[in-house]
Amino acid sequence: MKFSYEPVCLKPKHTFKIAREEVEGDKFENVIIRLEHEGVTGWGEAAPFLIYGENQATVVAALETFRPLIEKWRDPWKAEKMMAELDGALEWNFAAKAGIDAALYDIQGKIAGLPLCSMLGLDPGDTPLSTFTIGIDTPEVVRSKVREVLDCPLLKIKLGGPADLEILRVIREEAPKASIRVDANCGWTPHKALAMIEELVDYGVEFVEQPLPPSEVEGMRWLHARSPLPLMADESCERLHHIPACVGQFDSINIKLAKCGGVRHALKMIGCARAHGLQIMLGCMLESSVLITAAAHISPLVDFADLDGAVLIANDPFSGMRFESGRMALPEGPGLGVIPR
Ligand SMILES: [Mg+2]
Repeated sequence: MKFSYEPVCLKPKHTFKIAREEVEGDKFENVIIRLEHEGVTGWGEAAPFLIYGENQATVVAALETFRPLIEKWRDPWKAEKMMAELDGALEWNFAAKAGIDAALYDIQGKIAGLPLCSMLGLDPGDTPLSTFTIGIDTPEVVRSKVREVLDCPLLKIKLGGPADLEILRVIREEAPKASIRVDANCGWTPHKALAMIEELVDYGVEFVEQPLPPSEVEGMRWLHARSPLPLMADESCERLHHIPACVGQFDSINIKLAKCGGVRHALKMIGCARAHGLQIMLGCMLESSVLITAAAHISPLVDFADLDGAVLIANDPFSGMRFESGRMALPEGPGLGVIPR
């Protein structure tokens, strides 16, 4: 297979801040991946996140390690075996692997003449509504951000800053009917979390994502036994083998392609989470329409979606899944259905 890639710098429409200080960006450096098999082009994207040990430079280094293997690939239908070769060559580097994985699905779909969702037996009309994310900011900036998205019925609010309750009050004033989901990004202690969650009930919050750091297993069990709202794992649940331990700590998990290694791993996680009685959200990093659309294709399998990553960026190099007021419309073309702009 022919293999090339291009580092890209995605610029968010607003500076994006969450409760972890290493994440505050006015640019996000991803890598667009291109595979070519007998004239058929497959697009993929690596969306590295420093929290998980990757950045653009590690992705490029991983892709160069993979290059001699990929250039020997002859049959895109042996993707499980091919992706296992990459795992054998290099541990970790899941964002880089997720990018290759997406490009292989894109090629398969184009050869079959089917959108990815159809190849998986899914109805493109079954995509769940997606949240629109509001990052941490001053209450006045949050007010203006919420006014821009009043047509979105689901809002995800990043908390864990100093003005949390003031921000929630502002959002409820501006969007009294929106369903609100909260992500604390590990920003609280167990007692702070319980006090906050008890307040969040009054604001009609639906669930709370990752209140404590992943190391706080006992704290999470204590909180889960007392929390009046459902709790979702994000940083505590990166990949398949993290799922069993989520039982008793969380009610649901947030699966992201760049975190778990791609669509094929996300599908395994979805089955495993169901077997453990956990609900599932599909989430994203700051991603272009390439990786967002790959996730959207499997979203009919999950309960919740947080796939607004491409809407938050100003210079999306691709078109793909359309996001209108939280509704996700999959492209009709084969494979991922993404097209370079
Ligand atoms: Mg999160």
